[in-house]
Amino acid sequence: MDNKKLEKLKEKLLDVRGKLCGGVEKALKECKDEVKGGVPDISDDASRTYTRNVLLNLSERERDILKLVELALSKFEENKYGVCDSCEGKIPEGRLEAVPYTKYCVRCQNEMEGAEKKQ
Ligand SMILES: [Zn+2]
Repeated sequence: MDNKKLEKLKEKLLDVRGKLCGGVEKALKECKDEVKGGVPDISDDASRTYTRNVLLNLSERERDILKLVELALSKFEENKYGVCDSCEGKIPEGRLEAVPYTKYCVRCQNEMEGAEKKQ
């Protein structure tokens, strides 16, 4: 994949993240810490409270997406974006364009969804 396409996908990811976090720049970094850190510190800092509220207002599904977006962005830093987490194969460009935060290629995703249904 060329750099221009990667840049576009990264922009999309940042866009999705911005929307989920309410588009508030200050909240973004906090969101990131929150998502990564799990249990946040108790703090009376106003921006933290705000971020918590933003996160609390998200549905479980939206929070999942936020996590996936963070993961995808961290993969950019490692130059591993577009690589399937499961089989380490390349995720097709078309799939990344449709779901830029996907972790898996179509085959692995289907296998996983199949496995979930069996449980
Ligand atoms: Zn795969």
